[in-house]
Amino acid sequence: MHRAHAFLAAVVFLLATHDAAAAWHEDQAAIMGTGMRVELWSEDEAAARAAIASVWREMRRIDRLMSTYKQDSEISAVNRDAAKRPVAVGAELLGLIAESLELSRLTDGAFDITYASVGYLYDYRAGRRPTDAEIDAALPAVDWRHVRIDENARTIFFAAPGVRIDLGGIAKGYAVERAAALLRARGIEHAIVTAGGDSRIVGDRRGKPWIVGIRDPRASGRMVARLPLVDEAISTSGDYERFFEADGVRFHHIIAPASGQPASQVRSATVIGPNATRTDGLSTSVFVLGPERGLALIDSLPDVEAVIVDAHGRLHYSSGLERPGKAT
Ligand code: ADP
Ligand code: MG
Repeated sequence: MHRAHAFLAAVVFLLATHDAAAAWHEDQAAIMGTGMRVELWSEDEAAARAAIASVWREMRRIDRLMSTYKQDSEISAVNRDAAKRPVAVGAELLGLIAESLELSRLTDGAFDITYASVGYLYDYRAGRRPTDAEIDAALPAVDWRHVRIDENARTIFFAAPGVRIDLGGIAKGYAVERAAALLRARGIEHAIVTAGGDSRIVGDRRGKPWIVGIRDPRASGRMVARLPLVDEAISTSGDYERFFEADGVRFHHIIAPASGQPASQVRSATVIGPNATRTDGLSTSVFVLGPERGLALIDSLPDVEAVIVDAHGRLHYSSGLERPGKAT
């Protein structure tokens, strides 16, 4: 009798856990100049594949709209002509530019898509940087107030010569946010979508939180912190993503708009919050602002937290995060 019960229980357990193709599905791709990854839970293999394919389609669509490397993107048309005349753009690009300008206002210009007016003078692959004279000449064009939006006509105009914009500090967050929305619309309840340093999490990991590590900026295999997350976005901006070294200085891709030089107070800035577009823009902002002003900004906003690794390798946490007992 006892044995029969145990047998029955085992059968019931097997039936409950072995429902056909229910499983985690994972895929990776290189889009927007970065490594991307999707992992999701689905009971249906075909539905999982279709959902992942829809994410990659969405990423490529956003890239075609917003890449400054593609000559036929909307943003390239803006950079070519907006100093001469207002350039008509779609509602989506207009919206993300508007959100970027709001973030500039909020961060006192630490986040500034016109950084590109000087940023384009750096070539990280070739190890090339502008001279002081070249920076001085380009710097007047770096000011988010030069970017004028006409919401009704749906146009962008640059009110100064030499202005260029680049959405590299916010577009990947926007892309993973959009991808997460697509997955939810398909009924996916547990997923993570990652593009470079930006991840958007949907739901939990079936009964447990997702664990996202913050890597040591100077040792790629090591983590400085691990964060349990459910239904949240997390973005890290680091000085190790794109850089070269010259004269003992690390020239990386996050530019302080005030100086036209790479921001130097931080090695990595991580921001957690409900929306990936926002966490992406804020992680770049906190990186530029540095630990003190960066954490003051984060603590002044509802729903967001931050972890900073400063230029000395020291960790700083926003006030809503519990300091872990020990960093691994
Ligand atoms: P990652 O690309 O490593 O995920 P970020 O989200 O911080 O990190 O994005 C860095 C990108 O942001 C740069 O490559 C550049 O395109 C853009 N950027 C650099 N400096 C600024 C700035 N001050 N304001 C807005 N965007 C910036
Ligand atoms: Mg960013």
